[in-house]
Amino acid sequence: MLIIDQLVAGYGGEPVLKGVNLQSEPGVIHGILGRNGAGKTTLFKTIYGFKEKEEGSVTLSGEALTNRSIAFLETNPFFYSYMKGKEYLGIIAADNKEFDQEKWNAIFDLPLDELVDTYSTGMRKKLAFMGMLALDRPILILDEPFSGVDIESNEKIYQILNRLKKQGKIILLSSHILSSFTGVCDRISVLVKGRFERTYEQKEFEELEASIKADIHRNIDSTLNELFS
Ligand code: ADP
Repeated sequence: MLIIDQLVAGYGGEPVLKGVNLQSEPGVIHGILGRNGAGKTTLFKTIYGFKEKEEGSVTLSGEALTNRSIAFLETNPFFYSYMKGKEYLGIIAADNKEFDQEKWNAIFDLPLDELVDTYSTGMRKKLAFMGMLALDRPILILDEPFSGVDIESNEKIYQILNRLKKQGKIILLSSHILSSFTGVCDRISVLVKGRFERTYEQKEFEELEASIKADIHRNIDSTLNELFS
């Protein structure tokens, strides 16, 4: 079980995460939904350790979590541009002799012999996703994995995440778009201004969608009525 307890973190003395609590168990795909700026990336960076926490704890099975247990897909993955796709995967998979990059690439069809510099945004994301698979860690954290990737590849990512879930991985995903989540997540927690407001189980997703729509209407209907009058 991954347990995040009263996590506080921020920038320059300004807290972004204001006492975040979250639990996630193996075999569950857990979505973190929040508007732009809600703190999703800060949360993931703090869990991974890129960012230092100010208060609170993050534990896996009762032990302090280290990034050796995590594969992290960043929103905009970084690559050395002079490296070829296959060289990148070769380095990442150095400790995982079972990882067969050719077989995995039959799914994503990337030009692994080309320099990463020539890849599109979506291709880079797919390469980084393959890197996650090569790392084979118990916790997968994916920050906006579906943005910038075509529909077909998104569906492939969904299918792979479902298999990984069945292997008992702990999977956290973030998105600011609910529709990219409902087909793949077992549970969705809504992050609002650095705190989780509520966690929804699959049978409650319709309720979540309705409450988001109602919120939006409350906020913009009167302005739109004026603009379109
Ligand atoms: P999200 O991923 O939900 O869009 P972020 O975690 O990226 O949200 O950002 C949360 C808040 O932290 C925002 O107000 C953002 O402006 C601020 N923030 C993010 N990164 C930095 C940074 N490096 N320095 C200062 N403020 C930051």
